[in-house]
Amino acid sequence: MTIRLAAPLQSDSVVDGFGIRTVIWTQGCSHDCPFCQNPQTHNFEGGEEVDLKEIFTELDNLHNQDGITLSGGDPLFQIEPVVEIAKHAKKIGLNVWCYTGFTYEKVLEMGKKNPKYLELLNYLDVLVDGRFEIAKKDLNLLFRGSSNQRLINVPETLKQNKIVIIPESDGIIESFKNKDKLYI
Ligand code: SF4
Repeated sequence: MTIRLAAPLQSDSVVDGFGIRTVIWTQGCSHDCPFCQNPQTHNFEGGEEVDLKEIFTELDNLHNQDGITLSGGDPLFQIEPVVEIAKHAKKIGLNVWCYTGFTYEKVLEMGKKNPKYLELLNYLDVLVDGRFEIAKKDLNLLFRGSSNQRLINVPETLKQNKIVIIPESDGIIESFKNKDKLYI
């Protein structure tokens, strides 16, 4: 199985979720959010097709990373390989964040037609959901660009069967700034 990536894997990111993370930049997105910062990732024919085996090997050889972050583009446009990557990351002890322009509610709806969307949720620690909305842009937000986007604690959301947001309390932000390891 292959996946289309916009760029090579990027290790040691501290801005794409809690801790030190490796970002997987997927290629392809049709949400067309005005003022998107990554327009080069929109073309579904762009980027480079990569075999999942290569990605698994890279993940297996990572050092000092807390987790991976699936970003793009929108990873949910390549749901089959994205599920496999998330599954592998969890298997080797990495936590998994995923950014998407779809809302959590929409992901559930899509899951009725394609259960792979629901399967993905089982491997996610955090879903950052929703399109970037320039009118709601706020530079003070943690790990997202506009206030409509939510940091969703996926395991708790599945457990409680209602959306559980990670509180953007001073405590969480201070812990993050102090580089404590925060596992969701
Ligand atoms: S979902 Fe993300 S990549 Fe897609 S258009 Fe919106 S901001 Fe850009």
